[in-house]
Amino acid sequence: MTYSFNPQKRYLMGPGPSDAHPRVLKAMATPLIGHLDPQFVSMMDEVKDMVQRTFITKNELTFVVSAPGSAGMETCLVNLLEPGDECIICINGVFGGRMVNIAERCGVKVHKINTAWGNVTTTDQIKEALKNCPKPKLVALVHAETSTGALQPLKEISELVHEANSLLVVDAVTSWCGVPLKVDEWGIDAIYSGTQKNLSAPPGLSPVSFSPRAVKVLEQRKTKVQSWFLDLNLVKNYWVGAKRAYHHTAPVSSVFALHEALNLVIEEGLENRWSRHQEVYRVLKSELEKLGFNYLVNEENRLPNLNAVYLPEGITDEGVLRSKLLKDYNIEIGGGLGDFAGKIWRIGIMGESCTKNHVNMLIGALKELL
Ligand SMILES: *Cc1c(COP(=O)(O)O)cnc(C)c1O
Repeated sequence: MTYSFNPQKRYLMGPGPSDAHPRVLKAMATPLIGHLDPQFVSMMDEVKDMVQRTFITKNELTFVVSAPGSAGMETCLVNLLEPGDECIICINGVFGGRMVNIAERCGVKVHKINTAWGNVTTTDQIKEALKNCPKPKLVALVHAETSTGALQPLKEISELVHEANSLLVVDAVTSWCGVPLKVDEWGIDAIYSGTQKNLSAPPGLSPVSFSPRAVKVLEQRKTKVQSWFLDLNLVKNYWVGAKRAYHHTAPVSSVFALHEALNLVIEEGLENRWSRHQEVYRVLKSELEKLGFNYLVNEENRLPNLNAVYLPEGITDEGVLRSKLLKDYNIEIGGGLGDFAGKIWRIGIMGESCTKNHVNMLIGALKELL
């Protein structure tokens, strides 16, 4: 028996991964070099520089975790939290819940702010939570909740968090390189993202960044970080600092791809990229509404690059339609999660998948299927 794997080409319009640019795929095929090769080391410096530029931050402690977005989440939480601490975590979808799950494993008391899925956390909710927990070590929120398509405003919440002398931790996995995100201007102290959403690179890496305030907290830890692999004290000497010390072997080919994907963002211009996502969203929205789809999130807090929509009335089996889209048209979209399973679709227009051609393809297929 022989083994071969030649999958159909798909058009990726779900919650991630998204389509990759041919230049990114080509970069993955670059012959391997050693991860301590001076050529690789100087490329890591360029990656760090481009991550700083796209996060819009001067944070020195900015680097890339060699694992997916969830590991970036875990990196932020396990390094900043110590047993006995208290923190506030906002939950309005799957990923806020995941942050709670990680934080609770750190032996901390988590004060949860629960908001109905599809909505965002308000400043009043934060004020109320700070009454019960006036000195949280950190307050964590999801900027772009991929399970619902809600975009969380951060600026006013950031002021409240800093007045309480606390750190603001933000999940930017689905916002980075797709919608406005300004780490320094918004006072974000710890942030993590992922490569497979708006950046359109393969999954598996997580850019992170820590403010000087957060670095101070890291330096004052009394206990060891519970994870060896994610312990910033150890891993930072690999990415940051004059002399690179072996910590683990970076996924060389994935970093090649990340470097090229970031290059494409810089070439396009961050603000042009944000506008493109808005523009394509407006076309998609108008076509979906004509077909009878309705948005879950109100327009004010809606994420343009992840469209969570209720199906038109009369459609009883969304799963059948979704598999027809995949099988007959090679288009992947996402289904609903949690209470929204079977009720909504999640249509991603991220990075390379954010083109009018993608929209036309999907809408054309839907017109044939409905
Ligand atoms: C996708 C996603 C994650 C997790 O990223 P992985 O790369 O799948 O580990 C975390 N948070 C949000 C908001 C996401 O959309």
